[in-house]
This record gives sequence, C-alpha cells and structure tokens, in this order.
Amino acid sequence: MNHHSIEESGAMQAATYYNVMPDGTVKQVNPFTGTEVWAVPGRRTRPLTNETPHTAKTIEIHTPGDYCSFCPSRYFEPPPEKSRLIRNYDEWQKIDFLAPDKYHETTAEFRRVGNMFEIVTLDYWRKNYAYKMIGSRQKWKEEYLANAAGLKHITDIIYYKMRQEGRTDEQIEKIPMTEKLAIADAFFGGGHELIIAKRHYKEGAQNELDLFSSGEMSIEEHFRYFKFTVDALHDVIETNRYVRYVSVFQNWLRPAGASFDHLHKQIVALDEWGASIENQVRMLRQDPNVFNQYGANFATHHNLVFAENDHAIAYAGIGHRSPTIEIYSRSASGRPYEHSDEEIRGISNLVHAMHAAMGTQISCNEEWYYTPVDAVYKMPWHVLIKWRINVPAGFEGGTSIYINPMTPIELRDKMVPRLYKLRDENKIDRIRIAEECRVDPNPLKYYLK
Ligand SMILES: [Zn+2]
Repeated sequence: MNHHSIEESGAMQAATYYNVMPDGTVKQVNPFTGTEVWAVPGRRTRPLTNETPHTAKTIEIHTPGDYCSFCPSRYFEPPPEKSRLIRNYDEWQKIDFLAPDKYHETTAEFRRVGNMFEIVTLDYWRKNYAYKMIGSRQKWKEEYLANAAGLKHITDIIYYKMRQEGRTDEQIEKIPMTEKLAIADAFFGGGHELIIAKRHYKEGAQNELDLFSSGEMSIEEHFRYFKFTVDALHDVIETNRYVRYVSVFQNWLRPAGASFDHLHKQIVALDEWGASIENQVRMLRQDPNVFNQYGANFATHHNLVFAENDHAIAYAGIGHRSPTIEIYSRSASGRPYEHSDEEIRGISNLVHAMHAAMGTQISCNEEWYYTPVDAVYKMPWHVLIKWRINVPAGFEGGTSIYINPMTPIELRDKMVPRLYKLRDENKIDRIRIAEECRVDPNPLKYYLK
C-alpha cells in the first residue's frame, strides 16, 4: 500500500459514490444522504409503456367531473377554499377566501384547501407553541360560518370527519356545537394543505388509467400550478411564526401513497427541518459549493445530466432506492418564494417535461427541497421525482443496501428519446436535451450572495 491510498483524492471520493463494477453492477452512495444502493444487471424492469392493460375498466366521461371529492362538481367535499386560480383565456386570476355561495360561479383551475386529516395538526401548534390563528383567518372563519352555505358546508364535513374517525351519528349529535366548530378551526388555520388540479381524467380519456398527471398539463398550466403552490407555501410561513420548514410533495398514484387518483400537491408546515435537511445544511457549512461538487458537477462528469434550460438543470440521481430524476434551480435564491417568475417558470418547465416524458402510468413522488425559513446557509431549491416501481428486496432491511432496478445511465437513456419526441411535438418547452446541454462547471448559483 502506498501513502497515496490513505489520502482521499477527488477521484477516490467519486469512486466511493459511484462505482461501475466489471460485471455492470453500479454501486452508489448518495453523497447527501449516505444511502447505499446497487443497481444489478439482470434485474431489469419492464420497458416504460403507456399501453393499457386489458383489465383497465372503461369510464363514462361527465362534464364537469364528479369522480372523486376533488372533482369540480364536488367543491363542498374538501374543507373551505383558501384560494383558487381561475382562467379567462390567457388571463389568470387568484381569488382568496371566496364566499361559499359563490363556489360554483367560476371554475377553479387549481384550488387550495386544508387537508381534512392533517399530519401535523392545528392542535400540535396550539398545544406546543400557543399558536393562535391570525386575525385575517379568524375573520374569514366568522364570515364563512355566518354564510348559510358556509355553515352547511362546515357542519357536513365535521360530521363526515367524525364518522370517518369511527363515531356514530348519535354520538356526534351529543357533542356541543361549540366543540364541533372548534374542529373546524383546522380547516381555516391549519398548516396542512392541498393544491388540487381541475381535471381528474385527461382529455379524451376512455378508461380508468387515463388519469390527468402533471405531464398532461400545458407548459403554462404547469407553471401556474407551480407558482400557485409557491404562493401557498409562502403564505403558510407568513401565517404561522413557528414554522421552520414547509414540506411540499406530490404523490402520484396509489403505489406512491396517494389516497386519491386526482392530481394534487400537499403542503405540510413543520417546526423542524428533518434529518435530511439538517444533514445537508451541515454539509453546506463545511463546503458552500457542495451542491455543485457532489450534485451538478458530479452528474456532469458521469454524463448523467440530460436536460437543462437557463434556470434549471436535470440529471439522473445516484444513491436512491428507486430511479430518481433530480431537477435543480440555478438561481442565486435558495427559497422558492424568493425566485422570480421567470426562474419559477424555468424549473417548472423542466419538471413538466420530466412528467410528460414519464407518461401518466408511472407512480412517483415529487419532493421539493430548499433553504429552510431559518437557515443562514443557502441550499438550492431542487425537486426530486422518485419512481415507485420497485418492491424492496428481502435482504435490504438487514444490510441497508438497497437494490434499484435501473442504473442512472439507463434512467437517462429512457428519458432522452421521449424528451426529443415531446419537444418536436411542442408538448414541452424548448429545453436543451442530452448533448445540447452546456453543462458549465458550477451551474448552480445559490452560493452567490
Ligand atoms: Zn376527481
């Protein structure tokens, strides 16, 4: 052994994160999470396809949609609407706190509502922080309950929620009205929200698998979806001073944890960053350029970058338990709500292109990461799209080595031809694909002041 082997050179470090073995096995360690993953040749998944299995049931299309509680003809099934986005040809308008008797006067392209079953509850904030609903929310609640349609809406969903929690109608009757209405506070002032898209099925749908995914949107719709979510995320922070991070995610289809097939994002306010962000901020403190060094630059050196535009870059991620596409903002700003509209559009266009290229039938989680509210070290806003296509192998629990059914290169090579095709058809933005990517060193500018 020579002395060189003791020092960790850049190449040595790279080899520990991403190592292609002579038999084709790709051993990977995620530089940011430490997750150890192997992609083993011969464990191939089915080719990506949008062919419909014979078992898919045909559907009857109704206008407006009425297939689930998130559909446009069923506006009163979720909790009260905090905000909606409407569209008049090219004009988009946000309406906050719409009066309940006016819900059906316009059609919402997107709705922002409380989650009836919160992960982090309003009581959590009340009991642990003495959180009080801010004045404007309190006022909204009073006005809502003073409206006959509003009172009926709230009463109906309180009954629904209590029945879901296992209470009988008789038991519910006996609970005093003030106590019932206290439950409704979470619908007005809670920090777990949903952003719901308009459509359930895509244009021309014939069977139950023809669902409307993020990739079915137009480029403009997807930008509005992103922007509306960013605004909601910002508002959640503005209305609860104890919030330190807001988790934003989208579970697409049941294998990815979605309880509805109807497209929606979730926003959950938290009083901590979570272990993953804590760790990433720790790495940033040691090396402010870590997201270039072990993210974008690393991906460039291993030819994993496969799409970009002036505001964002996309590559196949390493060290994930399932095939994962990573989309990074190039912005000097670390939080989504500090991005300009053009920058949001840039990252939205790449995320949209990824969903469009994947098609509607791959279940996936879209997860957002960004600089926490109270962090002094900036990390870039990035979005991970994790495909939920593999069942964990038995030995993973014992070894903490995970088997990913696809190598990062295979993931890249599945995406590239589809992106070219969609771009030719003008279904995605004019992004740069594969060899067209410029892949400058240090493409992420978050480290700049
Ligand atoms: Zn629906």
